[in-house]
Amino acid sequence: ASRFDWLIDEARLTAQTLLDRAEELASPTLRLGITGLSRAGKTVFTTALIHALMRGGRLPVFRAMHEGRIAGARLEPQPDDGVPRFDYESHVATLVDDRRWPESTRRISELRLAVDYAPARGGRRTLTLDIVDYPGEWLLDLPLLDQTYAEFSAKSLSLARAPARRPLAGPFLAALEASNPAGTADEPEARRIAALFTDYLAACRAETVSMSLLPPGRFLMPGDLEGSPALTFAPLDLPEGAEAPSGSLHAMMERRFEAYKERVVRPFFRDHFARLDRQIVLIDVLSALNAGPAALADLEAALDGILTAFRIGRNSWLSALFRHRIGKVLFAATKADHLHHTSHDPLEAILRRLVERALARAEGAGAEIDVVALAAVRATREAMVKRGRAHLPAIVGVPEAGQHDADEFDGLAEAAVFPGDLPENPSALFDPALGFNGLSDASGGDFRFLRFRPPVVERNAEGLALPMPHIRLDRALEFLLGDRLK
Ligand code: GDP
Repeated sequence: ASRFDWLIDEARLTAQTLLDRAEELASPTLRLGITGLSRAGKTVFTTALIHALMRGGRLPVFRAMHEGRIAGARLEPQPDDGVPRFDYESHVATLVDDRRWPESTRRISELRLAVDYAPARGGRRTLTLDIVDYPGEWLLDLPLLDQTYAEFSAKSLSLARAPARRPLAGPFLAALEASNPAGTADEPEARRIAALFTDYLAACRAETVSMSLLPPGRFLMPGDLEGSPALTFAPLDLPEGAEAPSGSLHAMMERRFEAYKERVVRPFFRDHFARLDRQIVLIDVLSALNAGPAALADLEAALDGILTAFRIGRNSWLSALFRHRIGKVLFAATKADHLHHTSHDPLEAILRRLVERALARAEGAGAEIDVVALAAVRATREAMVKRGRAHLPAIVGVPEAGQHDADEFDGLAEAAVFPGDLPENPSALFDPALGFNGLSDASGGDFRFLRFRPPVVERNAEGLALPMPHIRLDRALEFLLGDRLK
């Protein structure tokens, strides 16, 4: 990027920061980002968080709520007109009325909540909470801002040719062999190559449960850009130091790559990411654990990619975008209701290990960081179930119908799984010599992909849903909001 782009970013961000500050003075405002890879649990968490602030519930660790200092929370019109609204009402209806999980996050959305509370020292105040839910895949694009098209091509192709990915990249690499970057640009050819490149990225993610993800992030999670020309580029096999002849395929792809950076990546970081005060990163650690050591290593690599966005040093030109630092980051392992409560602490220990290793390369990240294992919406209960002579701790819930991995559960009112225990010492999972092979059901079955329906939630006389059951949601709320409601 040129010095000029940098100045424009700087100016726009400064203007936006001043506007944010003015608003902050008028009424205290907190911008909370909710992110995570696809299916990590963003929609469910965001819905549950808003619901808990509006309806309360059993939240002993969330002090302001527990002490009765939160008078209420109201939805308000959001500040950014250009961003879709998080569809809270319909997500609650899906969860409570249909007992189905709501539709997952596919693009950025936002919701503003005004929380009326009584500070511990007395009086009345309002905290304006702006919640921004966005796909974690988009964070993978940050390194692109610093790359030329030639660098992006070289890097992407060396990964595509690495042994693990090569089998998945076959058709894409074959198309590259048949193409000539210096030849005349041809729209159908560009589209075909871009489509094969997209298929290859999608195959990489499908192949591994947790997906070691590769940019461009919008190729995996296009949001509103699905099918748009900004996404019809791909890396090309370029000779070292090759200039792009005008009118060539090379020139066309290069132009689109630059357009992607300028019109898609940079605005997202400048207008959204750089303005966040707090951030929760949701991680489906359990799926990776279930799938075994390769998936766990893969998850770690994916996290490493995502966390780059959280550890930009001051000496990089990118730091202009990150002057306003995110003050607190919470990493949360989701869906803890698939485990017995004795495994919740071990799950946190595993997550801490994953995140520590990914953050180890940080150049003084500066944010306060914590980890938690939670279930935003608890779909199961615990029971002791007799198996032969033994009584085993089990997780009981209503299986979702139509899970082709677990047909035998179709139509059952309730099913019990025996999740077994997570190791107390997470090192066992990270050391191949110790022979960890993925989790298995304590009774020898495979419970990996069993999904439970959301729980029964009652409604009050006015038809409002009563609080939803959860695991440790209150800890997340206390870490993210507690100090601002004192
Ligand atoms: P997103 O892609 O990050 O928005 O993920 P979602 O919030 O849509 O969650 C993906 C799926 O994970 C849901 O459809 C549920 O099946 C499951 N899930 C998410 N959160 C929970 C939870 O707290 N408990 C349980 N049991 N399942 C959850």
